[in-house]
Amino acid sequence: MTNNIVVLGAGVSGLTTAYLLSQDPSNKITVLAKHMPGDYDIEYASPWAGANYMPVGKEGSAHHKWELDTWPALKEITEKYPEAGIHFRATLIYNRKKDQETDTGKWFSELTQPNPWYKDVVPDFKSVPSDRLAPGVDNGQEFTSVCINTAVYLPWLVGQCIKNGAVFERAVFKHIADAANAHHTGQKADVVINCTGLSSKTLGGVTDDKMYPARGQIVVVRNDPGPMMSTSGTDDGEDEALYIMTRAAGGGTILGGSYQKHNWNGIPDMNLANRIMKRCIDICPSLVKEGQGIEGLDIIRHGVGLRPLREGGTRIEKDKVDGVAIVHNYGHGGFGYQASFGCAYSAVSLVKEILQNKSRAKL
Ligand code: FAD
Repeated sequence: MTNNIVVLGAGVSGLTTAYLLSQDPSNKITVLAKHMPGDYDIEYASPWAGANYMPVGKEGSAHHKWELDTWPALKEITEKYPEAGIHFRATLIYNRKKDQETDTGKWFSELTQPNPWYKDVVPDFKSVPSDRLAPGVDNGQEFTSVCINTAVYLPWLVGQCIKNGAVFERAVFKHIADAANAHHTGQKADVVINCTGLSSKTLGGVTDDKMYPARGQIVVVRNDPGPMMSTSGTDDGEDEALYIMTRAAGGGTILGGSYQKHNWNGIPDMNLANRIMKRCIDICPSLVKEGQGIEGLDIIRHGVGLRPLREGGTRIEKDKVDGVAIVHNYGHGGFGYQASFGCAYSAVSLVKEILQNKSRAKL
């Protein structure tokens, strides 16, 4: 028996879900999306991400499990498929207790605490000795993580899906149920997987009011400082952030950032860009030559992406809209890559439940 499946959305959530489902030859998959890898658009979060693995899920939560389950998959891809554009990178995290109550501090609270759950997941975890901490930093840790070149990794996922028989088509839907009628076979889809990110706020049949953006501004530069680093906050504003990560395969270094909730502005703010560059050099002088300031940065581009946050957390659940079976997988905030496989495993197991019920109904 074959299963006709539509995946709506070609960001990291849709592509990872399609990649897993495409490994079963009985699944005939159509990936439909307004934006595809190669596009840069404010409605498409995935290309803008750094992206790295810096876990933020609270211990014991579903989010914790999704991140836990994602590390082995990212590690395996990094080791086995260099063409996927992911590399291992030394990582430094600095925590200042004074950031605890800020938006950025809360976002990073699990990441920056001295004894986090992920210490047993990522390799080489150790605390930074206090005599190596800058003034004002209360604790720090180092470990090995990954940095994903999204401009290489997203097309790699597309390639894996196509190799397994999936079909990709551009399409824009006003209502989720309409996607069931757009399967490439011409038959109605048995299930539609909703991976539309922030657009789930307005997509007919979903219209999820709990969705809102956390605006992230970045500067991409050619300079390469070595390790990745991040802090719990900055002195420039409660919704500003500080992180540095060099992407694999010549992808440049991402300097971040911001975490501006409910801000939809897609245009880079040059004052914020200056603050981002300045504080990155302050914490990591090796970004530029000795004695240089931001004039020593070789800028590739400025960028803004909207993290698809959801009050109450990511939505991975079954639904039925106008008679169409749906599995939702959206609302991944600032952790869509580092939770991608865990979330996709959960979505795939819901798809299997729907398909099993379909087979039983046909007997
Ligand atoms: P999206 O990438 O937004 O994809 C949505 C898809 O749905 C698109 O293909 C779109 O065209 C399609 N779509 C939407 N509506 C419709 C419609 N009506 N009809 C047809 N198609 C539709 N995460 C990490 O894990 N690590 C990081 O280091 C990291 N850094 C980040 C830095 C920044 C600056 C930003 C902005 C985000 C970062 N993230 C990071 C978060 C991560 O990028 C997101 O969580 C993730 O990209 C969300 O992916 P998605 O597939 O759910 O949504």
